[in-house]
Amino acid sequence: MKKTPKVVNVADRAREEASVAKEILGPLVGMKLTLTRMVENMTGKVDPTIRYPEERRAYSDRYRGAHILTAREDGSPRCVACYMCATACPADCIYIEPGEHPDPLIEKYPTRFEIDMLRCVFCGFCVDACPEEAIIMSRETEICAFGRGETIWGIDRLMKRPELPEFGLGYRPNKELVDSRLAFVPKEKVQKRLAGRVTMKEDVEMIPHVTFDPLKESEKR
Ligand code: SF4
Ligand code: SF4
Repeated sequence: MKKTPKVVNVADRAREEASVAKEILGPLVGMKLTLTRMVENMTGKVDPTIRYPEERRAYSDRYRGAHILTAREDGSPRCVACYMCATACPADCIYIEPGEHPDPLIEKYPTRFEIDMLRCVFCGFCVDACPEEAIIMSRETEICAFGRGETIWGIDRLMKRPELPEFGLGYRPNKELVDSRLAFVPKEKVQKRLAGRVTMKEDVEMIPHVTFDPLKESEKR
């Protein structure tokens, strides 16, 4: 024989459990929370507002922002035009033209290296693929332009980055190696503040060229 399912009438139950005290206390508890938050905000005890662009959140060191092409000590690009990054790129947005390097120890260098920043999905695969630490990422996110052409960044744009001190370095898997060759010097007070929420742009000094020479490194070992 088929069993009749038990029906629970929630309206009846609510009516049974309702009381005048609950009706009054419920909204009062909510109002107390609202007023507490309002007073905290008005007195500056809690201030969730970031005064952008003067203040910015301190994004993670692994943030994947706009790319940086790193440089050798002589200022030339570290890139050896091996196409590893372009091959790994899922958005097909890296274009490289190689040339013969004058130094016989370095086979090639890029005569043209372009990243289409509008196609890029900032996945960092190019950084992972690079065997030379020649491409790393910054924490720069404010990429704006007056025309489509300006969104295709060439070697100069990727290497000379006057705005970098404002944002700092981002994703670079071989962090210790890259940082050991960087003049990235957050002042003492900023180091403390970086541990918190907000960083001010004028407090960070950085020279954007990475000058790591694997030949010299292997000689040292
Ligand atoms: S971050 Fe990703 S999408 Fe952008 S250039 Fe590198 S591999 Fe391509
Ligand atoms: S950036 Fe790195 S992976 Fe890309 S071509 Fe240059 S050396 Fe190769």
